[in-house]
Amino acid sequence: MSERKTALVTGGSRGIGRAICVRLAKDGMDIVFNYQRGKEAADETVKLCEAEGIRAYAVQADVSSSAECEKLVKEALEFGDGQIDVLVNNAGITKDALLMKMKDEDLDAVVDVNLKGSFYMMRAVSRLMLRKKQGRIINMSSVVGLHGNAGQVNYAATKAAVVGMTKSLAKELASRKITVNAVAPGMIKTQMTDAIPESAREKMLAEIPMRELGMPEDIAEVVSFLAGDGAGYITGQVISVDGGMAI
Ligand code: NAP
Repeated sequence: MSERKTALVTGGSRGIGRAICVRLAKDGMDIVFNYQRGKEAADETVKLCEAEGIRAYAVQADVSSSAECEKLVKEALEFGDGQIDVLVNNAGITKDALLMKMKDEDLDAVVDVNLKGSFYMMRAVSRLMLRKKQGRIINMSSVVGLHGNAGQVNYAATKAAVVGMTKSLAKELASRKITVNAVAPGMIKTQMTDAIPESAREKMLAEIPMRELGMPEDIAEVVSFLAGDGAGYITGQVISVDGGMAI
């Protein structure tokens, strides 16, 4: 069995997920991650991780499907010699609109990926971690889940749900030394925020005390800390990384 830890990261093909994969690779972990559509981007993440001297593997899987999450975990276990030490639930989507104009499909799609995807992954992986009596689970919430945002009722609901799931599972698993925490990014420069119209982006920037967007690496740094040996007594917490937005 490999001496190295194995981390499973959802949505690792780009943005924050890619930065997390690379950061955990720098920490010496083998990396398994999934992507949904971006095979080329996923291959690039694999290369960036392997450059850190570890093994990396990309799996195509849609986390909104319970069956595909089970398949992803099975493949990760085969890759990781039967172990998954760290799970990072990062995959997420937005379907923004004012509530009056929000379609049922916009609610369903966001709930399916952000809420159900994290649920399915935590259920599948915590079974294994319970057997081993060790593990770290890190979920991606958002400043929007804590404070709300006009035009994102669906997204905010799922990111608030991530906080509720994190705290509840932390209580379920604490006695087995498995920690469950969440990170709540503010406005981070990725394709997700590149899609925000210029006028809305200016308004959001004005609400950031540091007056600039964060970078994916800012989030990856905190994930690395939560996944590391120094964070073993921290569980059920939500750490904001947002340039002061949540103050
Ligand atoms: P992003 O650039 O849009 O990347 C999203 C990632 O999730 C991609 O790797 C994508 O894969 C994957 N993904 C999307 N739908 C999926 C599905 N159904 N199944 C599996 N994978 C799927 O997003 P990001 O900005 O890096 O955000 C990452 C996380 O941080 C999300 O949970 C987001 O809500 C949260 N967050 C972001 C910000 C921000 O400002 N960027 C702020 C707060 C919270 P493909 O490339 O293959 O499609």
